[in-house]
Amino acid sequence: MANNEDLFKKIISHAKEYGFVFQSSEIYDGLSAVYDYGQNGSELKKNIKEYWWKSMVQYHENIVGLDSAIFMHPTIWKASGHVDAFNDPMIDNKDSKKRYRADVLVEDYLAKIETKIEKEVKKAVKRFGESFDQEQFVATNPRVLVNKEKIENIKNRLYPAMDNNDLAEIKKIIEDLEIACPVSGSRSWTKVRQFNLMFSTQMGSLSEDANEIFLRPETAQGIFVNYLNVQKSGRMKLPFGIAQIGKAFRNEIVARQFIFRMREFEQMEMQFFVKPGEEIKWYEYWKEARMKWHLSLGIPKSKFRFHNHEKLAHYANAAADIEFEFPFGFKELEGIHSRTDFDLGAHQKFSGKKLQYFDPEINESYVPYVVETSIGLDRTFLAILSHAYSEEKLEDGSERVIMKIPPVLAPVKVAILPLMKKDELPKKAREIMDVLKVDHMCQYEEKDAIGRRYRRHDAIGTPYCITVDHQTLEDQTVTIRDRDTMKQERIAIEKISGIIAERLKK
Ligand code: ATP
Repeated sequence: MANNEDLFKKIISHAKEYGFVFQSSEIYDGLSAVYDYGQNGSELKKNIKEYWWKSMVQYHENIVGLDSAIFMHPTIWKASGHVDAFNDPMIDNKDSKKRYRADVLVEDYLAKIETKIEKEVKKAVKRFGESFDQEQFVATNPRVLVNKEKIENIKNRLYPAMDNNDLAEIKKIIEDLEIACPVSGSRSWTKVRQFNLMFSTQMGSLSEDANEIFLRPETAQGIFVNYLNVQKSGRMKLPFGIAQIGKAFRNEIVARQFIFRMREFEQMEMQFFVKPGEEIKWYEYWKEARMKWHLSLGIPKSKFRFHNHEKLAHYANAAADIEFEFPFGFKELEGIHSRTDFDLGAHQKFSGKKLQYFDPEINESYVPYVVETSIGLDRTFLAILSHAYSEEKLEDGSERVIMKIPPVLAPVKVAILPLMKKDELPKKAREIMDVLKVDHMCQYEEKDAIGRRYRRHDAIGTPYCITVDHQTLEDQTVTIRDRDTMKQERIAIEKISGIIAERLKK
């Protein structure tokens, strides 16, 4: 664990040093859980958005985009349930004065028991080798069974307490489990209180006619309230989807783990409208499709897992998370939810406007059901960053830090480097740069020894370095260096663009 913490710290400082992520308002000592993306971070973020948009909108004839406003009519948040139910139970430790999400304290406790079970299984695998029957072991081993029962008992108390808003019971669970504050080690807790996560502000110039409005806590509602506009103007037929990328705001109680939990963040959401009764089929379809998307970026399968929800939100009849193994453990990266007709039904009721779809196949109108895929852009960024970061020992004994960002997402695709700053090499390199930059994000660099320039580009994840040397002036060839293998090949200048385009497709 200590190693992973170390690794996480290294990733955070690397992200700052190389212009990926800065603390917001840093010169004023920062603003908690708000971050800015630097020159390389903003490129990576933009590339992730494009990759998502292409796969969701461009490659699906029946999915279209939307860019709805952050400010919306306040009644929308009443209808969606956010005004009344977008709460987290919070609790303070009296000694450390630290604030926690009460349910997360219990969930973390559960995760510890899970880890115990996993350790038990690992030990048994070692002991029994090939003949090991995991299913039977988990079903019969007394220590595993005791721990499983513990988990069940806790869940059977926590989930109903959360559903019924029973804050006293949540406090009691924390007391009964003797959960201590991770900072002070003390068990002196305040009462559990509900905390609404929406930020609000005033709209209107005069205070008398000011109206309280909210900063959207999710982009989904902008899609729901526009569903009929898009359906009619785009003559969309069910099933069809609307995708949107945009900012969302949540006044998170505990904001930690860098860009994993932010107060201002970005979501990439797609709401897929289907015929009632077909939602589970589509829910399964999107679960698979979204997992494939993650794997298409070349991150190993073992880094991802599904977490099917046992406790469903008020709007869902099936829900799962795709979790990623961050340096601090498996955590939610994306949610896939079958939201039924809850949202459209509620907006129909609160607005008094019909949000029905006329189905020409059966000559009937109905409110469609919705399957949602909702992924955090910043969490995807963090997943890619933490998987990409690696330290390598080279044959000559030196070390390099390399960001193995999938080439298609890399902030800079090609570095153009004259071997030396003389003999017309810079001029030739600039000529090459001027052609290449039309199609690819390029960077020209002539300062420092070539080896140091290669290292700098390894550290930001540039997949290809083109070096212009004296031979270039003679025979119009350059070397192309691959970030991961460090192998160099000599190729003709006229072939560079095609070769890079081809490799970026992989
Ligand atoms: P969590 O349980 O971690 O708070 P959630 O279940 O509330 O997340 P959703 O409401 O399902 O999250 O939001 C969809 C996605 O938006 C999440 O999977 C996550 O990637 C992203 N997301 C949610 N909250 C934040 C946040 N505070 N900072 C960054 N990304 C977030």
